[in-house]
Amino acid sequence: MIIEKIKKILGSGGSNNTQNKTTNEEKIKNRIAKGMIEESSFIKKGEHRKAIKHITGEIDLLKSGQPLTLNEKKDFNLNTRRKMTHDLINIIEMEGTDLNEALKEIDRMSLVTRSKAQREIHFKGISEEGLFKKVELMAPNDHRACRWCKSRNKKIFTVKTSSIDEIEEVINENCTCEPWRIAMVTKV
Ligand SMILES: [Zn+2]
Repeated sequence: MIIEKIKKILGSGGSNNTQNKTTNEEKIKNRIAKGMIEESSFIKKGEHRKAIKHITGEIDLLKSGQPLTLNEKKDFNLNTRRKMTHDLINIIEMEGTDLNEALKEIDRMSLVTRSKAQREIHFKGISEEGLFKKVELMAPNDHRACRWCKSRNKKIFTVKTSSIDEIEEVINENCTCEPWRIAMVTKV
């Protein structure tokens, strides 16, 4: 009886920890997605919560609900080979909306949410690491990198600072990669 009880406590303790981590990342993603959806005119007012879940990846509306028939896709002027469901279409404000544009915007919001959350978690990790005097930025060089990153290809770009906010400012001012891809190493 007693052993069982201990196991139970340990068990729930363990799962709580993983849960906290996930909840933290989810919270960040939810906040970013919510901000973008509120700015966008493409999402129906009453469907914001569902849209947030889709954009953060908590649910996938392309995998739920009735798929569109070939004729329905033609009616909507969609690529007939494209996978589409009524569940996804239903969150879109159709009045005065180009459906293809709206779908593109939803994809973009998903990408930006993931990218910004990843960046925020990375910055938070660095500031929790403790003291540093400079940060080396290494930019990727491929077709997905922005011009600023490309121009720094293979060069180490050093920011002399001990403030993570300052680095964030430098990156925000210059890098337009979507998703965010720069690598950072802190030096003491
Ligand atoms: Zn960039």
